[in-house]
Amino acid sequence: MKSYAVGIDLGGTKILTALVERQTGEVIASVKKKTKKEKGPLNIVQKMKDAVEELFEETSVNKEQVSSIGIGAAGQIDRANGILIGAPNLDCYDLNIRDLIMSHFEIPVYLGNDVEIATIGEMKFGAAKGCDDFVCVFVGTGVGSAIVKNGEIIRGATGTAGEIGHIIVDLNGRPCACGAHGCLEAYASRSAIEKRIEGALKKGRHSVILDYLEPGKSITSGMIRKSIEREDELVTACVDEASDYLSGGIASIINFVNPKLVVLGGGLIEAVDYFYKNTIKKAKAKSLPVPASKIEFKKAALGDFSGVVGAAFLEDRKL
Ligand SMILES: [Zn+2]
Repeated sequence: MKSYAVGIDLGGTKILTALVERQTGEVIASVKKKTKKEKGPLNIVQKMKDAVEELFEETSVNKEQVSSIGIGAAGQIDRANGILIGAPNLDCYDLNIRDLIMSHFEIPVYLGNDVEIATIGEMKFGAAKGCDDFVCVFVGTGVGSAIVKNGEIIRGATGTAGEIGHIIVDLNGRPCACGAHGCLEAYASRSAIEKRIEGALKKGRHSVILDYLEPGKSITSGMIRKSIEREDELVTACVDEASDYLSGGIASIINFVNPKLVVLGGGLIEAVDYFYKNTIKKAKAKSLPVPASKIEFKKAALGDFSGVVGAAFLEDRKL
């Protein structure tokens, strides 16, 4: 009986793999590795293979009991052919991940993207369990989103629907990595907040975040939380600004899609409750009265594991 699947969350900094019991969504074992994209795409593939082998070694589960390996990658993907088309955060282009992993394990392999797997995880066992009509918004290095209608993720004509990070919130605004100007991601992501804080520090503004910052290291969500707890003026202002923009983006989605529920996740949301609470309060206030009267907000419930749990269910989706 094949009651397990392997889920892999392939991100720019880490590769998280897990052996998941498909009935309950329980993570039986997990292995984490650093991505180290500078070593090249084949090294990333090798690390995924090693991590999956370690999962089998750590548990009494063998590959005959595993129905599939699901991989969610941070990038543009060709679902039908299992190809990672372009992933700047991984430095991988036109990489046939599916065949490379499948030929090694002889288990069916399915490829999705990182937002898709986290959304599937939250839908099956997390904050959106039992809800078939919702939007997930994940705030991290970027801002990602997925729209679920009737229990299915809406893909759009080219499979790229849900790019909330690139809705334009300021016509003549900040440049975005996508080439446009004024995208939400350039205002509301953790990286955007970091840039604002760093810019102000360079200009000589004081902040208690300096107590946590080590030279050469970047600002973490934890440092942001601690600074807000100490009522730091600069960090609070930067987070408030991000929340103003994010709530505007979410209000637009509420008006446009009219979902029952908005699930918010990602490192910054999980670590900084102040950011989460203010964002949902403002989003509700900015939405039209009728959709706002019914909307519900929840924090993602599976944390780091939402992606790997969701990836274990990629085999069930329609292509
Ligand atoms: Zn953009």
